[in-house]
Amino acid sequence: MNYLLDRQDLYNLDKNEIIELLQLQGDDFLKLVKKANEIRLKYRGDKVYFRGLIEYSNICRKNCLYCGIRSGNKNFIRYTIKDEEFYNAVKFAIREQYGSIVIQSGENTSPAFIEKITEYIKEIKKISNDKLGITLSLGEQSIATYQKWYVAGAHRYLLRIEESHPELYKKLHPQDGNHDFETRYNCLINLQNIGYQLGTGIMIGLPFQTVEHLADDLIFMRDLDIDMCGMGPYIEHPDTPLYQYKDELLPLKDRFNLTLKMIAILRLMMPDINIAATTAMQAIDPMGREKALQAGANVLMPNITPKQYREEYLLYNNKPCIDENPDDCIDCLDSRVQMAGYRVGYDEWGDSTHYFNRKNL
Ligand code: SAH
Ligand code: SF4
Repeated sequence: MNYLLDRQDLYNLDKNEIIELLQLQGDDFLKLVKKANEIRLKYRGDKVYFRGLIEYSNICRKNCLYCGIRSGNKNFIRYTIKDEEFYNAVKFAIREQYGSIVIQSGENTSPAFIEKITEYIKEIKKISNDKLGITLSLGEQSIATYQKWYVAGAHRYLLRIEESHPELYKKLHPQDGNHDFETRYNCLINLQNIGYQLGTGIMIGLPFQTVEHLADDLIFMRDLDIDMCGMGPYIEHPDTPLYQYKDELLPLKDRFNLTLKMIAILRLMMPDINIAATTAMQAIDPMGREKALQAGANVLMPNITPKQYREEYLLYNNKPCIDENPDDCIDCLDSRVQMAGYRVGYDEWGDSTHYFNRKNL
């Protein structure tokens, strides 16, 4: 067995040690995953927490070079969910005892959008009797907007840094003054200062990305002292500029395994955070999310977006479940979680214990 896996103080791993773990194969890879699962069970228990994901709108002011719903892509229809449909999805989450929802969207900083989200947050609190936890994933916004949504009742925010090296970040985004690494980083700091449980993450297997980058990404997350992480494999989309590098990418299976290793190592480094088993894992492997749970993840984000919109929220190729209505997924998910060896934490927020530990609450 690799000597590192015997160590007690794995939260202290340095860059070279992380690189060594990222390169484990065969039995040592399985042992890494097993160790991460043990640590997850010790610090976060055997529960899996659900966050019903509402993909509110695919209108986006950004033009990220990897993303299928970038503003430059004209090959699909833009939508925004209507109030009634939004509240139906919320009621569905309440009825199914999901505990939390995530509102995700393309980036929109218009006053009308900001007001609408504020209204939704307040209304969700009301109709769920404060029972539904609210995570936002609405991109870069001003401090005032983040503050407004926090006061309205949102308590977690997911903003992936996507790639923590400013140089590589530049290669993945247009240089138009609207896709600035510093701005995104400052948003993370602002969210943390306001009091949100802070989530970030990256894509794995991007063009130009190396294991050195990935090791630094993990150290970035530890240094930032994040509470939650959502990271997944990069999956190329034909209507994006980065598609031209498709032949230089790692095979999908390798991107998948590398993501499992990233999840496992992050769990060793940050035992008490929440880590999501992301949809992109399932896009590569039908059992992808279960495998992620067994490698240290403890959060699932079932898609509860009304079916008619799902085909228009294609961040990447082969996105799963676009043909299903939310109802089709309930039983399937519960038994999948049980088969993987865990229990669903119904009606629980399942907050990151790291947040309370770091705040000394
Ligand atoms: N607009 C918001 C939230 C929606 S995008 C934001 O960007 O923060 C949500 C996530 O989708 C992004 O953070 C990115 O990591 C992921 N994503 C976009 N394109 C992708 C691709 N081609 N493969 C995998 N993930 C992708
Ligand atoms: Fe917009 Fe987010 Fe896609 Fe970038 S990743 S284009 S911000 S939806």
